[in-house]
Amino acid sequence: MATDKREGNLDAPTRHPLGQDDPAFYDENALLAEMERVFNICHGCRRCVSLCHAFPTLFDLVDESATMEVDGVAKADFAKVVDHCYLCDLCYMTKCPYVPPHPWNVDFPHLMLRAKAVRYKQGKVRLRDRILTSTDTVGNLAGIPVVAGLVNAANRYRPARQALQQVLGVHADAQLPRYHSRTLQKRMRGHVTIDSAKPAGGTRGRIALFATCYMNRNEPGPGEDFFAVFEHNGIPVVLAGQERCCGMPRLELGDLDSIRKARDHNVPMLSELVDQGWDLTALIPSCVLMFKNELPLIFPDDELVKKVAAAFYDPFEYLMLRHKAGLLHTDFKAPLGKVAYHAACHQRVQNIGHKTFDLLSLVPGTTVELIERCSGHDGTYAVKTETFPNAMKLVKPVAERVKRAESDHYGSDCVMAGHHIEHAVADGREAEHPITLLRRAYGL
Ligand code: SF4
Ligand code: SF4
Repeated sequence: MATDKREGNLDAPTRHPLGQDDPAFYDENALLAEMERVFNICHGCRRCVSLCHAFPTLFDLVDESATMEVDGVAKADFAKVVDHCYLCDLCYMTKCPYVPPHPWNVDFPHLMLRAKAVRYKQGKVRLRDRILTSTDTVGNLAGIPVVAGLVNAANRYRPARQALQQVLGVHADAQLPRYHSRTLQKRMRGHVTIDSAKPAGGTRGRIALFATCYMNRNEPGPGEDFFAVFEHNGIPVVLAGQERCCGMPRLELGDLDSIRKARDHNVPMLSELVDQGWDLTALIPSCVLMFKNELPLIFPDDELVKKVAAAFYDPFEYLMLRHKAGLLHTDFKAPLGKVAYHAACHQRVQNIGHKTFDLLSLVPGTTVELIERCSGHDGTYAVKTETFPNAMKLVKPVAERVKRAESDHYGSDCVMAGHHIEHAVADGREAEHPITLLRRAYGL
């Protein structure tokens, strides 16, 4: 147990690099010793008990052990805590008083990531998890026109879903994404943007959209809305190019080699766009977080990574910077009424404030209700057979808020979270991406 008893942290939190190149990183005994140290601090603190299922799992293990302390928990059971961490970063960013520079140096998400990386290196990964996180390979296959139709039909066919649960461990009741053969990249091919860039508010006024594997193949509509909204505001838009998955799903698996490969493909391409005068964005908060925060912590000495991180913005952060500089059009044509808006975890931890909430609130005749709770989707957590019930428990309070709001619209910047909420609300309404709502408000 750490000896410094100073309660809380009076200094601004800092984050250390992940440190995967340190030989001790993959040393299992060193990992277990560090887990025991941090679990002891968490056991004495317990502030994070309501954030996710990782902490209740840890505290139950402690409370049910012979000593009722962490030393009574079998080391083999530490993995049960790791299984319930989906690396949302909320405990680090919003709750923990013992993060660096506090001498206790608690970084729970990085510790969980290290445990996942050690497990991955040992080959202890299920085929199901490899498939679910291979978004480019699965998307390329499922995006072939005839295959897309079959996959979408099978996903809605109960016997097929029961078979998928039995064979692969994908819960039969989980909502699986729909595949589009007309991807965002195909839809925008040949699109000509007018280069009328006006730099303002720290932005250069020209933006390249990293399409993301999910928005490209599973949800191309909001991507088109993005083009309409940004170009309406005089911001030229291009797609980033022949990108690959940013790597976030593989991070959840602890597969750091794949993160390096994703970096090697995407970062030089994005860096060139920055050199040509483009700012960068993506419509999925997790992908923005990957480029803005995660890659710089994994590759702290990489100058290209730093350059790309500095040029990456959340889309609504970007529009609000333009608004501050007087360059956002506020010629809204249609009120949105009441909007129940879910703030996604990976957007909250970017420390940019509630920019989507702020922007939607500018639309006359619109009130926005902010819901700041984990949706429980969290990558693959809401589709795996063993974690789907927890994901449904986590989303329940969010769904209740949406139902009680009796809003005209609801949604999240994270479309996967939006669909998971939709699954729990189950009243026939669909979650909508805020960029889609904004397009509607402009009457475009
Ligand atoms: S990073 Fe998120 S999921 Fe992981 S332990 Fe912290 S709050 Fe829970
Ligand atoms: S992560 Fe920090 S705030 Fe959360 S339980 Fe552990 S010590 Fe407490």
